[in-house]
Amino acid sequence: MTSGDELRLRDEIVEVSQAMAARGLNRGTSGNVSARLPDGLLVTPSGVVPERLTADAIVKLDADGRAPVEALKPSSEWRMHAGLYARRPDMNAVVHCHSRHATILACAGRPIPPFHYMVAVGGRSLIPLAPYRTFGTAALAEAVAEALDGGFACLMANHGQIVGAPTLTKALAIAEEVEEQAAVYWGTLAIGGPQILDDAQMAAVFAQFKGYGQGD
Ligand SMILES: [Zn+2]
Repeated sequence: MTSGDELRLRDEIVEVSQAMAARGLNRGTSGNVSARLPDGLLVTPSGVVPERLTADAIVKLDADGRAPVEALKPSSEWRMHAGLYARRPDMNAVVHCHSRHATILACAGRPIPPFHYMVAVGGRSLIPLAPYRTFGTAALAEAVAEALDGGFACLMANHGQIVGAPTLTKALAIAEEVEEQAAVYWGTLAIGGPQILDDAQMAAVFAQFKGYGQGD
């Protein structure tokens, strides 16, 4: 990776953070975005609203979470991001947000079942719920990594949602779809609950995704 690659990733992190705010996935300073580097990660700083975020404000951390002295304070959730890069070689980008409907379900203790075929964008037949742990802790990082095992997206109890993916663009797209699925599922709960797709129906969805490119 050249320094040009790192600069591009910094720009992309800013774009994704601002897109999350513009699309209503985030409000204020509550979300965070990161990308893998060969020797660590880049992550959004703590307490900077996306509209004011600049590429040079993105914090570079080594694998142990150390930042250059001149860097801003990294997101309080940097451990969640670092923990995923350590365990998941298939993830090069992580997006975390408190999007409203995902958070409503997470606060109600409800994972998202296979009620719509697009639930499969999370990589599995359901979008699971990681148990509640205090924000910013290694315990939360561990709970999230376990809930994401074998998939790309999960809800976080009493907190929000998190997505890991091969690229930042993909991570943003999945987070946006998780929010949409959460909103629709929440809506079905108001009118008697959804009809659930069975295992064979979801297996057919995964087969289609393989053949056509995910999400078309
Ligand atoms: Zn959070």
